Amino acid sequence: MTTQASLNGTALNGKVAFVQGGSRGIGAAIVKRLARDGAAVAFTYSQSAQQSEGLVAEIVAAGGKALAIRADSASEQAIRGAISQAVETFGGLDILVNNAGVLAVAPIEQLSMEDIDRTLSINVRSVVIASQEAARHLRDNGRIITIGSTNADRIPFAGGSIYALSKSAIVGFTKGLSRDLGGRGITVNNVQPGPVDTDMNPDSGDFADTLKQGMALGRYGKVEEIASFVSYLAGPEAGYITGANLTIDGGFAA
Ligand code: NDP
Repeated sequence: MTTQASLNGTALNGKVAFVQGGSRGIGAAIVKRLARDGAAVAFTYSQSAQQSEGLVAEIVAAGGKALAIRADSASEQAIRGAISQAVETFGGLDILVNNAGVLAVAPIEQLSMEDIDRTLSINVRSVVIASQEAARHLRDNGRIITIGSTNADRIPFAGGSIYALSKSAIVGFTKGLSRDLGGRGITVNNVQPGPVDTDMNPDSGDFADTLKQGMALGRYGKVEEIASFVSYLAGPEAGYITGANLTIDGGFAA
């Protein structure tokens, strides 16, 4: 379904969303879906300027509102600045999606300190910073949704210790943050995908075949399947779901 064909969505009309890491993969699908459902969407990227501009053009051509901001999730200043820019541009904030993430796979003896620090910086620290900054701007009944991973629950291959650590950190943060913000009707949830076909985890090759064998459905997820779940959590019908770690993984952790 194209963005153009689906601009009849209304669930998020009048809402403003900010997606941290929205240029490619799951993040880009989330940006498209939230825009399709009526939200004005600002998103960040670090490298993919061309893809980001293409995504904005596609949404605007379909009658939606989108803004791409270059902001490295390793930089506190860049994250806070990007959220402020989104708030100023679109006049407020209702939805934060923390999607930016990196994957470094290597046995612990071989992981460099650079890999370890970068994983924790992008997958954990940036989530804390963006959530704190967003909490200062979010309107009542807002939403914070982080893309964690089923690997917080199950990591059935060697080399993923630091990635699993980073995604497990999101589990506790989600619970605690839901308590901080519940009084304002703001929900906080962690979406934990299983293998999804993206640049990070392509649906082909030996690694993909091994992962598929461990799944109830025996196939990779599609980015649109994750985006649709995120859209539901962002919408008005999901107002009683909070502090939850929600797995969408084709039975990977079953
Ligand atoms: P991709 O590598 O395909 O895309 C990553 C996105 O994050 C890009 O938009 C990228 O922007 C952005 N990003 C990465 N680093 C930074 C940074 N330093 N600053 C700003 N943006 C950044 O990954 P996926 O779409 O596969 O993954 C998205 C999320 O889902 C991640 O958190 C990942 O851990 C999680 N996940 C993925 C699974 C999978 O199987 N694919 C399974 C479970 C969880 P840019 O283009 O500019 O680099």
